[in-house]
Amino acid sequence: MKPVKAFLALIILAMLLSACGAPRQSGTAPDAGENDFHIVTSFYPIYVLTINVAGDIPGVRVTNMTEPQSGCLHDYELSPADMKTLEDADLFIINGAGMEAFMDEVKKAFPDLAIVEAAKDIPLIIDEHTGEPNPHVWVSISNAILQVENIREALKKSDPAHKEQYERNAGEFREKLQALRDRMHDELKDIGSRDIVTFHEAFPYFAREFGLNIAAVIEREPGTEPTAVELQETIETINALGVKAIFAEPQYSARAAETIASETGAKVYLLDPLVTGPKDADPDSYIETMEKNLQTLIEALK
Ligand SMILES: [Zn+2]
Repeated sequence: MKPVKAFLALIILAMLLSACGAPRQSGTAPDAGENDFHIVTSFYPIYVLTINVAGDIPGVRVTNMTEPQSGCLHDYELSPADMKTLEDADLFIINGAGMEAFMDEVKKAFPDLAIVEAAKDIPLIIDEHTGEPNPHVWVSISNAILQVENIREALKKSDPAHKEQYERNAGEFREKLQALRDRMHDELKDIGSRDIVTFHEAFPYFAREFGLNIAAVIEREPGTEPTAVELQETIETINALGVKAIFAEPQYSARAAETIASETGAKVYLLDPLVTGPKDADPDSYIETMEKNLQTLIEALK
């Protein structure tokens, strides 16, 4: 009977151990996703596009390097925390087209890091004031579709183990984006006015996609207040064209827009260029925000 008792004791011991979680053989602390394929994105819009392709795949992790409220990265400076995030990245997905001005620093610190520009091969609009390419490509749904394709291709190449999931997710997201674009075209077809004034240079791709005319931009250089002369010019343009709507952005103060509105017959609305979002961004954020923009445009330009 004794050997049987000893055997039972062993079984009970084994059950207890597995119930408490046996110590890991490697001896390292449990670390969720240590062996995951780790994708880092530069900022909110790229993060939202990427989680639609890679967000729900076991063994794949997506981290947004900057806070979702950071906004455009025109003047962004890398923090020590950003460098730490990049240290652990298998792939860094950026917008490109000049949005991430800090890339020389990244390449110097991490010469072996794989980097993908989501805006690769997308024809860029050159800003007439700065002479620089306009980086806000994702605000056009057609361009967002191209960015998703670039992201998908990069992921399939860097992480072939999950290529079928990337392919399927990107295909499903593409269908949703196409349906949204078609519906927006349809609903904006008969709006009364096509002249708009926007806050910063975030909307040229969007305006081109939907046949809107950006009559003036309030803040011509990101981060700089318009001068008195520039404000006056904008006011004159609005009055001359009879522009009905000024679009401020939720990420910036609407003060200048309100000053202009008080001098003209135009009203201030909010149009969201999707440069910021909630901390726990939902994959549907892109589509939901565009829906809101559509409703705003219909109300402002009817
Ligand atoms: Zn911007």
